[in-house]
Amino acid sequence: MDNSLRELYQEVILDHSRHPRHYGALESATHKAEGYNPLCGDRVTVYLKLDAGNRVADIRFEGKGCAISQASASLMTDLLLGKTAAEADQLMTGFLHVVKGEPPSDLPEDARNHMEVMAGLSAFPMRVKCATLAWYTYKNAVEEGSQ
Ligand code: ZN
Repeated sequence: MDNSLRELYQEVILDHSRHPRHYGALESATHKAEGYNPLCGDRVTVYLKLDAGNRVADIRFEGKGCAISQASASLMTDLLLGKTAAEADQLMTGFLHVVKGEPPSDLPEDARNHMEVMAGLSAFPMRVKCATLAWYTYKNAVEEGSQ
């Protein structure tokens, strides 16, 4: 990866961590889960509103932690809003591949472009936990976080 691209990616991550999208509690949440990454001290709470068709009608998060963990949560809310459970699963699988530096499995092009900013993390295994925290928390919310 060349330096200008790396700088651009760092800017995107900083922008998400400073101006997180979809931040704050969601009163009408149907599902909720809290996640914690003890390696770094990151905390993320994911609020979901799933509609009758299991589509993500609304999604919000709150959290505290390093820039990567909060940026990743912000990026995730952008990606998951409006998606079905199946589409969300596909995005999560793809994201886990991207941050581990593996080829992304059948990921839609626009989603892959959004996730590419996290691709540099594969060189830092500790940071991968920061980036995946929000996604595992989302998954817990869907599976066990019914309100
Ligand atoms: Zn972290």
